[in-house]
Amino acid sequence: MKKVNIIVIGPPGAGKGTQSERISGELGIPHISTGDMLRQHSDLETEHGMARDYMDRGDLVPDKIVYSILDHRLKKRDTENGFVLDGFPRDISQARHLESMEKIDAVISLEVDKNNVIRRLTGRRICDSCGKTFHLDYKPPVKEGVCDKCGSDLVQREDDKKDVIEQRLKKYRDKTLPLKEFYRKKGVLRKVDGNKDIEAVWNDIKEMIEEFLR
Ligand code: AMP
Repeated sequence: MKKVNIIVIGPPGAGKGTQSERISGELGIPHISTGDMLRQHSDLETEHGMARDYMDRGDLVPDKIVYSILDHRLKKRDTENGFVLDGFPRDISQARHLESMEKIDAVISLEVDKNNVIRRLTGRRICDSCGKTFHLDYKPPVKEGVCDKCGSDLVQREDDKKDVIEQRLKKYRDKTLPLKEFYRKKGVLRKVDGNKDIEAVWNDIKEMIEEFLR
């Protein structure tokens, strides 16, 4: 199979994680989420554990920390057929950093209205132990407050609380949105209507992937 490097961008709550997981399963390439990796470092209190302070405020974590984690991850052997990157790049300078290491084949932009974003984020719950995500309305756990997969407690991410969401959306507008123009000029941007339900969005993405793999 030819190597395929995909980026999924979109505002917080756009479904980047969910759709990236699907792409990963479909193409057999790893899903690399900088947000997940940063949360793991914080939980394990590694030398990058201070990232949590930035995340809890809805700020971007300094590039030095993110690059150190990402560069290490991209060197792993499982990326030899490509990867699907979720949460990176967050701004133009991160895009340039990535460009210096990897060629990007497609950037899928999940387009979601602000009211949907807020509804999705405030209802999101995450397993304290295994990280599996749920949603109070769209993907509730079988038993309230308990993870279907491992039975641990479900919690709300600190940065999914309302005032932090506003800050994350502001960062997205100011820093991340310009990436769409950056990648459009390179001819790799593909927009998808992310307001639809998970299955419908996935069908659109799948069609798009089949088309560009042809
Ligand atoms: P996410 O899970 O993608 O919503 O990311 C959660 C938080 O992790 C963000 O609000 C940032 O604080 C941090 N983060 C994730 N990816 C990056 C990145 N590429 N650059 C800087 N901070 C990041």
